[in-house]
Amino acid sequence: MFRNFKMVSRVVFGRGCFNQLDDILAEKRSNYNSFVVFLVDDVFEKSGLALKIPAKNKDFIIWVNVDDEPKTAYVDDLTQRIKNYADRLPAGVVGIGGGSAMDLAKAVSLMLTNPGSSADYQGWDLIKKPAIYHVGIPTLSGTGAEVSRTTVLSGPEKKLGINSDHTVFDQIVLDPELIADVPGDQRFYTGMDTYIHCVESLNGTYLNAFSKAYGEKSIDLCREVFLDSGSDSDDKLMMASYCGGMSIAYSQVGVCHALSYGLSFVLGTHHGIGNCIVFDYLDEYYPEGVNEFRRMMEKYNISLPRNLAAGLEEDKLDKMVDVALVLEPLWENALGAGWKEIMTRDKIKELYQRM
Ligand code: NAD
Ligand code: ZN
Repeated sequence: MFRNFKMVSRVVFGRGCFNQLDDILAEKRSNYNSFVVFLVDDVFEKSGLALKIPAKNKDFIIWVNVDDEPKTAYVDDLTQRIKNYADRLPAGVVGIGGGSAMDLAKAVSLMLTNPGSSADYQGWDLIKKPAIYHVGIPTLSGTGAEVSRTTVLSGPEKKLGINSDHTVFDQIVLDPELIADVPGDQRFYTGMDTYIHCVESLNGTYLNAFSKAYGEKSIDLCREVFLDSGSDSDDKLMMASYCGGMSIAYSQVGVCHALSYGLSFVLGTHHGIGNCIVFDYLDEYYPEGVNEFRRMMEKYNISLPRNLAAGLEEDKLDKMVDVALVLEPLWENALGAGWKEIMTRDKIKELYQRM
């Protein structure tokens, strides 16, 4: 079976296009009682962007905190706050921020129409009812969360996305001006998420012409941004993230992401930096990619934390291995159908112990 995948319905791109958000939302405000929920990364609470959010007087702005990456309990709490706010559902949910804030918006828009806890839906195609109309506005580029069909959540048992066609944004607003002030290290880590998406997609067994076309374009843009530092680098990085996301949508990520999920679940390491920490030890699987990544790190003067998992208690290490091993499609993409013979528990442990 070929994947019949759902894409974002509407995309607006360009410097300053955030100013069009008011017009875009106007079409969804069906009557005088309609309201829109804005879930905005609290890093912007006192910023110029806060003043530009086109909120009307019935709208609800929630400043979300992403010091920890999204958890199912936080999604459930936000959903309840919105239900308490009004006796009707919102006309739209708008997520403004990096991958974390966008994922929160996706998850909340799903949980407003589906019963129970978000933890019940971690997995593939468990969501039954369409979400509230939802809009994604990245302020940090690299995760590809703006185009993906998942919202990545840490739950009580596992770190796993709510993967469904309903998760996909109805609208995205890609305004490169919004990523201008991201701190250098963060820009690098999240940018490398895209770079690693491409390396894993382009070197995977699931590769096909669709994924290759997007992956090659995205990796070229990453090189321009992180090795050449030419003009328009924010515009390019934003499109690299988009294309990288499209590439993995029709293939899969690989070894680095599987190991990084384990690291993140047990140690709380954030996605971008976690991928960088892991990728630096993957010469055996992605030799050219790792070499090029090291040149980018050098150019950006990045030094990664070391000895994170080395010396960790046995039960925590075991949990890391468990979380990584659940991600079967990632391993199969990276290593082929016989991956279980190659990537044993001991091998994964040994890799973690070097980090
Ligand atoms: P993030 O959203 O976690 O943000 C990282 C930091 O940057 C935060 O402190 C945030 O406040 C800050 N920040 C964001 N925009 C800023 C700006 N313009 N200026 C200054 N600071 C800014 O980082 P991320 O790397 O974009 O996202 C990581 C999250 O995305 C993880 O939770 C990960 O699981 C998820 N993710 C999701 C997908 C998906 O397809 N849904 C894919 C990859 C990763
Ligand atoms: Zn990623």
